[in-house]
Amino acid sequence: MHYISTRDASLRYTAAEAIVQGLSREGGLFLPERIPQLSMDELRALAGMTYEQRAVRVMKPYLDGFTEEELAGFAARAYAVPGKFDHPGVAPLYEYHKKTHFLELWHGPTCAFKDMALQMLPYLLTASLKKTGEEKTACILVATSGDTGKAALEGFRDVERTKILVFYPNGGVSEIQQLQMVTQAGGNVGVCAVEGNFDDAQTGVKAIFSDEALREELAARGYLLSSANSINWGRVLPQIVYYVSAYVDLVKAGRLQLGDPLNVCVPTGNFGNILAGYYAKRMGVPIDKLICASNANNVLTDFLRTGVYDRNRPFHTTISPSMDILISSNLERLLYLLCGSDREVAGYMESLRETGRYQVPEAMLAAIQETFRCGCCDDGRTMNTIGKFYEAGNYLMDTHTAVAATVLMDYRAASGDDTPAVVVSTASPFKFCSSVLTALGEEEQDAGAAIIGQLARRTAVPAPAPLAGLQGREIRFRDVCRKEAMSARVKELLP
Ligand SMILES: *Cc1c(COP(=O)(O)O)cnc(C)c1O
Repeated sequence: MHYISTRDASLRYTAAEAIVQGLSREGGLFLPERIPQLSMDELRALAGMTYEQRAVRVMKPYLDGFTEEELAGFAARAYAVPGKFDHPGVAPLYEYHKKTHFLELWHGPTCAFKDMALQMLPYLLTASLKKTGEEKTACILVATSGDTGKAALEGFRDVERTKILVFYPNGGVSEIQQLQMVTQAGGNVGVCAVEGNFDDAQTGVKAIFSDEALREELAARGYLLSSANSINWGRVLPQIVYYVSAYVDLVKAGRLQLGDPLNVCVPTGNFGNILAGYYAKRMGVPIDKLICASNANNVLTDFLRTGVYDRNRPFHTTISPSMDILISSNLERLLYLLCGSDREVAGYMESLRETGRYQVPEAMLAAIQETFRCGCCDDGRTMNTIGKFYEAGNYLMDTHTAVAATVLMDYRAASGDDTPAVVVSTASPFKFCSSVLTALGEEEQDAGAAIIGQLARRTAVPAPAPLAGLQGREIRFRDVCRKEAMSARVKELLP
């Protein structure tokens, strides 16, 4: 099976080439030319497997040129090394109520769902380098709204033939997130704050990728630029696995009969996570509605309701910073899947670049609305939800998950649709201690990493080991740069 670009479907790439390149030369995103299917019998068989076995089954049909043994080795190292995930199920469901489960995707080494893909991507990428005969060292460039950066640093740390450089918006990530990044260990890593917001950092990284002169200069020094952002297909693919896994776990637990519908509510920023859910649905998992939850940066809510994508609006810094995004890159893949026209998608993206806005036709909006529902909530309601679920249900959740929980309640109340639902839980509450403590009514808060212990004492929930260990670690990275200086930083890191 080949991969095509959303903006030029005549270009054909192998899976390995798509993963090595990350982003297509003309700026489009790679996607598989077909969507492999999972039958009900196959879903039944998956129910009896471990998470890493499920990963192999789900990913294999997308990865021509990779053997089953190879993938089994990657999955074992990504998900089954003792101590890497602090839960034997890797991506377990927490039953809040018979019809409401939380899919906890933060049991990995950096306590956010980004680990699910970024523990796998380095294996996919280094194998892809070999398969494509590429001899250069891959330099992974990452723009992060907080969680991707740390997860990518941890995934690529000391991986042979790779370097990684992470840019994060100065002041735009939580104190814990920043500490996690600036204390990162490893000989091949770099971290730099950018003056600006996440979109500035992401735009800067995209500009570096499309800078041909820079690409040639780096190639001459033996480097190849690659991406670990969710624009890379190698990020999206491992995320499909947990949607399949959650569905078969619910069947296994007797909460669903095989074939019963399931709704899924996803706290959304760059649209990568929910897009993986859409792929799971298109593969044959009986997901009915995908509910896209946003914070005050509700550009997607407006788009999914009206068909108009308009980023010309104020940018809000919220307590769910990983969703503070006005340009959701992965939406481009959904647009392509629904219209099947590279020219049409290229037109929308050109309009977005030039005017900050585009509009899709009625028929396309109707196709989107067959599956997608949406909603948004502000910080106040997010806080209320954290407090309410903790007090009424003794369940502690982070700010991003709370946005999704709020939006799911709104959706159920407005639509009367009480289909069993999964709320995708994307981060440990201990990554956002300050907001979570405020939601629980604790105004007086400890400074720095001590706040982790404070939240643990307040709730009697143990802090995850990787966060509990942050206190007292040496700060290795203090750089701040202007967004215009990002490419100069890349050159410095790659002598
Ligand atoms: C990245 C992230 C999101 C948004 O996911 P997308 O794939 O960008 O839509 C939501 N919550 C948390 C905690 C995240 O780290």
